[in-house]
Amino acid sequence: MAAISLELPTIQNWSCHNCGGCCRQHAIYVTESEEQRIVGQKWIDLPDWPVGQSLFVADGPRGQKRLAARSDGGCVFLDERGLCRIHAKFGEPAKPLACQIYPYAFHPAGAGLTVSLRFSCPSVVKNLGQPVEDQQKHLVQLARQVLPQDYKPLPPPELVRGQSVSWDVFLDCVDALDAMLDMPQTPLVLRLRRILEWSSLLEQAPIPHLTGDKLKAMIELLYAECEQRIADEKATDADSYPTAVGQRLFRLAAGQYARHDTLAAKPTLKMRWGFFWSGILYARGKGLTPAPHHKLSAVPFSALDKSYGGLSLEMEQLLTRYLRVKVQGLHLCGRAAYGESLIDGMRTMTLVVSVMLWISKWVAASQGSKVWTLDDLIEAITIVDHNHAYSPAFGTRSSLSRVRMLQQLGDLSRLLVWTAR
Ligand code: SF4
Repeated sequence: MAAISLELPTIQNWSCHNCGGCCRQHAIYVTESEEQRIVGQKWIDLPDWPVGQSLFVADGPRGQKRLAARSDGGCVFLDERGLCRIHAKFGEPAKPLACQIYPYAFHPAGAGLTVSLRFSCPSVVKNLGQPVEDQQKHLVQLARQVLPQDYKPLPPPELVRGQSVSWDVFLDCVDALDAMLDMPQTPLVLRLRRILEWSSLLEQAPIPHLTGDKLKAMIELLYAECEQRIADEKATDADSYPTAVGQRLFRLAAGQYARHDTLAAKPTLKMRWGFFWSGILYARGKGLTPAPHHKLSAVPFSALDKSYGGLSLEMEQLLTRYLRVKVQGLHLCGRAAYGESLIDGMRTMTLVVSVMLWISKWVAASQGSKVWTLDDLIEAITIVDHNHAYSPAFGTRSSLSRVRMLQQLGDLSRLLVWTAR
């Protein structure tokens, strides 16, 4: 295979801190060769292997096998210190590839690949560990395992729905989005509202016919127009409260993002009924919320409408880093996120931010607090990012059209103002 060129996020650190979180949250499906390798490690012959505990469960859509889980939902290879037994005994390469890669995600970007990270890992959210830029060698080794031997560069995702462009044009637009996010002097909500406006203008511009300096000039011109249209951080009253329909759609989305399905939790009939009933509660938005996660108690919906003190500088910085890693890593569109175009993917990211803020209030309210903290936001990001771009629930036609409807109503922008209070 030819040399692999990797684009790495410049603003992110990460090393594993062995919290064991990923080993409790994810179903790890294995290939046949991984299955044979693990069987060959002879775990079942060990004297301390639990009697009757199998290595695999065949419950994939086409009968694929995944690593078995213990009764508490943790991976069967997770030891009492929170460490992987395969890793400890045979080294990292002996683990399934999915376990080696997490929390990294590789996505095609022109002739090379770009790297993003999953913020469901607490060490990623907290920016702990070695700069990702310094891990180039290890990441290239991982990328070689991820790519098929006969890998050929793929075309880019659509720029806007139904509109294909070259990689050069696509990546210029990605750089523009990243630059619009990287404006620390401008409040995050204002940045995102301008990006929403810019996205709408971009849809109408003759982008596929422009390249190079002309394209960059058009991108800047559109952004200057957005700065004029949305000039003030303070939204008008009409801009600060989503429509009733928008609030209902939002609560339904937020309720889905708040779910925390573990690898042991294959939905039973009772669970399905619970999801259905929760949907009714979210749509109504009255009385008490469901309690879909061990960090989220049943609290009055009305408590989540209130202000929790506005965004602190640290919260703005964390959300900005989250968004920039996802944008730089192309983790918001194409195959990485439900086949969405770049522009639709970015709109969805603004909804994801509003959901994270709403769930931050929920985490705070669950502890009896009326003011949120950075820790509440950290918790909310790990909950939401566990699902976004991975749970099939957000790739359904109804889920994708929900974002479009919120955009058409003007509610994506209002939701940002409303939830960031
Ligand atoms: S969740 Fe992150 S820090 Fe925790 S074990 Fe997994 S990779 Fe390591």
